[in-house]
Amino acid sequence: MATEKLYYEDPYIRNFHAQLVENGVDENGRHYVVLDKTAFYATGGGQPNDTGMINNVPVYDVEEVDGEIRHFIQTPIEEKECSGEIDWERRFDHMQQHAGQHILSAAFEEMYGYKTVSFHLGEETCSIDLEVQALGVEEASRVEERANAILLENRPIEVKWVTTEEASRLPLRKALSVTDNIRLVIIPEFDYNGCGGTHPSTTGQVSTINILHWEKQKKNYLRIYFVCGNRARKQLHEKHRVIQQLTGLLNAPQDKLADAAIRILDEQKDLKKEMSALKFTLLEEEANRLAEQAEEKKHYRFVEKIFTDKPMGELQQLAKNVTEKTSRGVVLFMSHKDDRLQFVCARSKDIDIRINEVVKALLPVINGKGGGSPMIAQGGGDPLLSPEAFAEKLVEAIENVLAETV
Ligand SMILES: [Zn+2]
Repeated sequence: MATEKLYYEDPYIRNFHAQLVENGVDENGRHYVVLDKTAFYATGGGQPNDTGMINNVPVYDVEEVDGEIRHFIQTPIEEKECSGEIDWERRFDHMQQHAGQHILSAAFEEMYGYKTVSFHLGEETCSIDLEVQALGVEEASRVEERANAILLENRPIEVKWVTTEEASRLPLRKALSVTDNIRLVIIPEFDYNGCGGTHPSTTGQVSTINILHWEKQKKNYLRIYFVCGNRARKQLHEKHRVIQQLTGLLNAPQDKLADAAIRILDEQKDLKKEMSALKFTLLEEEANRLAEQAEEKKHYRFVEKIFTDKPMGELQQLAKNVTEKTSRGVVLFMSHKDDRLQFVCARSKDIDIRINEVVKALLPVINGKGGGSPMIAQGGGDPLLSPEAFAEKLVEAIENVLAETV
């Protein structure tokens, strides 16, 4: 049974009484109630649903299925007599945005012939997609001016139910999507539009229409972002608060904020460059020092060190640097922190050991994982033995390999 839509008799109805028709569950297991009539608007035509209360139970979603309006609630309603109240602040905001969209779309079409192909009413901003590839700043500001002039004139926004025949005699902005029960929303001498949404009774109540920015979309459409009504005021406060904060932080007036940010980003880029050059020098020096300290073993020279402050990436670089500076060198760097033992093991070009195989054989002693190439390998595991003991195991393994090959 089709639900009687009270918002079509009067879009300003906030409270109403109705009879319960049915408690139901939809295909997603969500519980809903159907009433004989309702002031709750169901999502459609770009306008989101209302929220509110029925018998003090919150309504979190509203959908229309074949003329039946379903109010989604968490718990069933048993009483036959129901009283409903919609969240008026939310609804009026939707009315302002929706009417604002009609006016903005009509202004784009009237002034430049740009047709609106879709409308989105979001939580923060609204958008329309225009059938055009580019928009000039000047064009946008002229359209915004025209749209706001329509608000200032405080024209009536009328609703008319018409037949296809009657509709065909009016200058409709877009083709109708229905053939019977045609509902037109009309701003006389300006916009004639088939629409099922809720609108204020005069354009003045939209209060303001502000184009924010625009961006290219697929299919050569252009998406225009805008806000109307109380949203514009709220967002002005929010943006001003952010700008005040930035003005203080960057010590620059509003019109110099971008320059100040660019300066800081440039400085940061230079500092990063300087820092990586310094790091490179430090690693080189450290590699020289470590190479000099290499311990003479029977068939090779061993460099070993435990670190607590270097990331693995740096240890790998350092290990490569040291092996390049040491003939017949084997390097073992370990990092012992946060209850984890990690290591890098590398060798010079002039010594024939498959480091990845030595490491692989050793990993079980620390429950570890790892791998690499014959030249350099890395791994990590539990600190089941001290770094010193781990190093001893490695030396032993390397000596065994070398004893076989030499
Ligand atoms: Zn509409």
